[in-house]
Amino acid sequence: MPLYSFSCLKIPETICNKLDAITRTFWWGHDLGDRKLHLISWDKICQPKCRGGIGLKKFSLVNQAMITKQFWRIQHNLNSLLARTFQRKYCTSNSLRDYNPKPNHSWIWKTVVVPQNSSLHQGKWLIGSGHHIPLIHPDWYQAPDHILRENNLSNGTVADLIDQETKSWKVEVVRKLYHPQVAKEILLLPISRIPNMEDKILWKHSNSGDYKVKRAYQLVLKDLYPSATHNHRCFGIANEVWERIWKVKLPLKILNFIWKLLHGSLPVFEVLINRGITVSTKCILCNEEEESLNHLFLKCHFARAVWHGSNLEIRTSDCFNLSINQWVETCLLQNDPRNPIRMGLLQSIFTTLWSIWNHRNLVLHQGKDPNPMEVLLTSQSLLCRYQKVFNSSQRQRSSSRQQNQQQFTNQDWQLVIKVAASINRKTKRSGYAYEATKVDGSDLFTGGTSCGKKPFCLASSTNNQVGTRGL
Ligand SMILES: [Zn+2]
Repeated sequence: MPLYSFSCLKIPETICNKLDAITRTFWWGHDLGDRKLHLISWDKICQPKCRGGIGLKKFSLVNQAMITKQFWRIQHNLNSLLARTFQRKYCTSNSLRDYNPKPNHSWIWKTVVVPQNSSLHQGKWLIGSGHHIPLIHPDWYQAPDHILRENNLSNGTVADLIDQETKSWKVEVVRKLYHPQVAKEILLLPISRIPNMEDKILWKHSNSGDYKVKRAYQLVLKDLYPSATHNHRCFGIANEVWERIWKVKLPLKILNFIWKLLHGSLPVFEVLINRGITVSTKCILCNEEEESLNHLFLKCHFARAVWHGSNLEIRTSDCFNLSINQWVETCLLQNDPRNPIRMGLLQSIFTTLWSIWNHRNLVLHQGKDPNPMEVLLTSQSLLCRYQKVFNSSQRQRSSSRQQNQQQFTNQDWQLVIKVAASINRKTKRSGYAYEATKVDGSDLFTGGTSCGKKPFCLASSTNNQVGTRGL
């Protein structure tokens, strides 16, 4: 991603759209130029995970969020060479906000200073003496014009509201000028007691007052899709469910599959027909009814046999009043992944759904005979493997560094890789070393690298042909 260009220049919309298209094509997969079906809209995919998307970024919005950082850099460093140069040449006013661009002005300057999204330019004042904050400043609280005129404060500053001797608010004046709720907020603002402390404007949307690109992107996205934040449900599913999907400890390909299932966007015959693609309508597993998501995963005799035969012993006939989306949503709402037992249950449900889908594809594309027992065995095997991997990785994270040196002697392993890392805070050097050996102890290769001033001594590689069979 061209980050430097994105942070300094306004990238044309066509280029951003092209970059979006490349990302989209990569995500959905491509096969020697053949365009794959994109069954979920890009707008949905770009939503955060907690609102039904997967959090991919739109390039035009990233550009918007990054370029506004330059505005705040200048705002916070008005004495910098950059700020002084641009202000002398293009902006006669002291305030960057009063800048009115003319056609002959610098295009870069215009894209930096003129907001594409006004909320990104919103600031909050850190009050020193108050002399540099006009009462009509857009980032100060707005009082009705006629009240300001009545009190001869049309050209006043916040200093007029402050008792400079005691460094406290003039309570009566504040209450006279502003709405009670606003006055209450102003009176809670701290005033610096340091003499001659200058007023400073900070970014409104972060606690520290510093501009954060990540937060700015969230704001721009929120402004673009306000409907997605109106309630606790997005795309018909509770936001809590969208969040919980990604907490289940399973490979990402299975979580992506469940996410697509909840969006109703798996390419079953019903979905393809709705998109104008001519295919058979009969379920490939039972050849009796039309294939839909509800039928394939819940109502089909094949699926019912799998669910009943699994260790979950689920009778799907009890939940025929629910669609598959509602059923999965209910499962996720009733089972919090933070509970290990519930986590196991969700892992089992997701793996079974994934196995049914894989078996359906094998029957469709490779002509296999439908066999519920095969699905059960595959599902059980996958579940055992995934639980073993994810549970062991969790144990590894919680254990000490010494555990990294532990040698696994499982018979399935063909080689053992050890990694050790170290940081020297005094010399500010860090580095890591690695060693791969066969189970019998003979070396395959060793090496290391460092991030300090002096390079780490690299050990020689004894064998570059690394066998990974069995890993
Ligand atoms: Zn069927």
